[in-house]
Amino acid sequence: AQAALAQSQKLEALGQLVGGVAHDFNNLLAAITGSYALIGRRIQDPEILTILEHGRKAADRATELIRHLLAFARREELKPKVVEPARLLADVADLLFHAAGAQVSCTIDTDPEAWPVLVDTHRLEVALLNLVVNARDAMPDGGSLVIRARRLSRRETRPSQLPEGDYSVISVSDTGSGMSPEVLARAVEPFFTTKVIGKGTGLGLAMVHGFVEQSGGALTIESRMGEGTTISLVLPRADAAVAVEDRASALVRVPAQ
Ligand code: ADP
Repeated sequence: AQAALAQSQKLEALGQLVGGVAHDFNNLLAAITGSYALIGRRIQDPEILTILEHGRKAADRATELIRHLLAFARREELKPKVVEPARLLADVADLLFHAAGAQVSCTIDTDPEAWPVLVDTHRLEVALLNLVVNARDAMPDGGSLVIRARRLSRRETRPSQLPEGDYSVISVSDTGSGMSPEVLARAVEPFFTTKVIGKGTGLGLAMVHGFVEQSGGALTIESRMGEGTTISLVLPRADAAVAVEDRASALVRVPAQ
């Protein structure tokens, strides 16, 4: 618990620092990309245009990186609602399959008995997208991806930090490279990445980890070198009373025509 606290304090301080710097960088980058666009309009020389294009691409990559950093630093307040995991996965299946790429065969396996959970669905979708992109990166020559939703059975070992109770598990499994014990030990650390500059920020799993803990759950990673990885989000069952409240408000919210 002490290590978790230290980690969360470290994240908090890092978040503040990163947030401040990222904001300033964002403004500077907007000025750089704006200037490139203006110069581009006045130049005919194809050689110089190519050089300009290189610069523009680098600035675009930096903008993308800053966007990630800001999302990480903001630690937005969650807007949780009650959802059935099966329903949520059905809604995002297309998006996730697309992200996995044509090389990867994708399956969604949902147990309709999975408990409803109380989560910020948008953030959960972003988290799943992060996991799927990591899985795709771990399978450059293709492979299979399975996204599952189920109940955590009472017989299974519950992540030690979670109190006794009912949980649902949403997991993403791949048949990719797997992680070495060294990588596994550091995978959720902010800024830890084994990817080349421009491809990885090392913030994906740190964000997913933070989100799951903020939602009252836990993240587990099982990985074997050369065999693959399963990352599970263990989320507490939505309180029955909350579920009823949500159903009541859902009745009132009639979509406008
Ligand atoms: P990034 O993807 O930007 O590197 P992450 O925090 O998402 O940052 O992941 C950190 C590291 O964990 C990755 O660089 C990779 O080494 C490892 N990793 C994450 N997901 C997987 C996976 N599904 N298979 C193998 N390695 C993974």
